[in-house]
Amino acid sequence: MKVFKFGGASVKDAGAVKNVAAILNKFPTEQLIVVISAMGKTTNALEKLTDAFFYKKGDAETILAEIKEYHFKIMDGLFENRNHAAYTEIENAFVELHWAIEDEPAHTYNHEYDQIVSIGEIVSTKIISAYLNSAGVKNTWMDARGLIQTDNTYRDAKVDFELTENCVKNELLSKFKESENGIIITQGFIGGTSENFTTTLGREGSDYTAAILAYCSNAESVTIWKDVPGVLNADPKWFDNTVKLNELTYQDAIELTYYGATVIHPKTIKPLQNKNIPLFVKSFLDPKEEGTVIHESDQRLNVASYIFKVDQILISIQPKDFSFIAEDNLSFIFSILSKHGVKVNMMQNSAISFSICVDNDEYKITSIIDELKDQFKVLYNTNVELMTVRNYDADIVNKLAQNKIILMEQRSRNTHQLIIKSE
Ligand code: ASP
Ligand code: MG
Repeated sequence: MKVFKFGGASVKDAGAVKNVAAILNKFPTEQLIVVISAMGKTTNALEKLTDAFFYKKGDAETILAEIKEYHFKIMDGLFENRNHAAYTEIENAFVELHWAIEDEPAHTYNHEYDQIVSIGEIVSTKIISAYLNSAGVKNTWMDARGLIQTDNTYRDAKVDFELTENCVKNELLSKFKESENGIIITQGFIGGTSENFTTTLGREGSDYTAAILAYCSNAESVTIWKDVPGVLNADPKWFDNTVKLNELTYQDAIELTYYGATVIHPKTIKPLQNKNIPLFVKSFLDPKEEGTVIHESDQRLNVASYIFKVDQILISIQPKDFSFIAEDNLSFIFSILSKHGVKVNMMQNSAISFSICVDNDEYKITSIIDELKDQFKVLYNTNVELMTVRNYDADIVNKLAQNKIILMEQRSRNTHQLIIKSE
């Protein structure tokens, strides 16, 4: 059995969905668990819808109408006419969403967010499953909320592997028993709590779903189908001369993604490493090409790799009473960060100031500054970038930092990190 994952870009329009069918058709004798994300940029649009609903920021009706129209347009490119049962099903899903945002918010922002944003994956997989069945690619749709069991940390839910493994064995694997081959279509990114609320695993979390399902079903491999030829040494969005890495150790893959390489979600690797399940990253545009394999190997990465994290904020925290930054202050600061789910991408400590570089999430940042400002003076720089170079080459690093202001810098034997701002 193999696990495949198709992200938003691979299902962004009717042509892309047909390409997914063509790829699945190449594996007629396999048992496949196929994990699919929301279509195109739907998750971003649903985030806007959540903000409109919760913070009365923007027009919820218009945003919802646009999301709906986008999905119906894709369906019109897939089905012969609107008599197909899938239209009623998708219409109903949007009606339910409409009802949900007509009420006043009853839960926390994060809780409401997960109930709304998860609809992107639900409608995407329903459309694709129905299309595949109509195109002769027989498959069974499964609700990931009944498989991936999590706690109720909304927007960053923690997976209960034991419960999930039981659900996968009892509900999912039994579907394969009757036949030699078969396809299960399910959602990435979403899970369910013991109280049957929907949770999400964090943005871009569909890769992680694929890894969890592979771990729990002892799959032979995972393949992430992407719009790039594999894992590259830099993001082609920022760099011209990228090279594809043919193979990576789990360790190197963990480090690259930890520092912000967006090609795979950072949580994906560990469950696979624990069961020695190889991960292939391949192009859905060129499915015959080799791509990258991430597996156990003694071959550590020796080419320089460059990772940019944009839209960062550098926050400097200074005790108002002029005490030094010591363990008690640090422990207080970290408790606030952890309470608001803020992840530190780089940090540095001096006698009277503690600096952290974090993703610039407006709501989270406002909340932590609010809680810190009684005891600390908080200064910050927005619009900064965090650049990480592994196996660095000093010349290239200097060139990259040219005409930029370096606000903070850290260097170890393998890794050079800079927080930079354009002049
Ligand atoms: N649809 C979700 C997102 O855009 C999950 C994913 O694509 O992996 O973040
Ligand atoms: Mg994605």
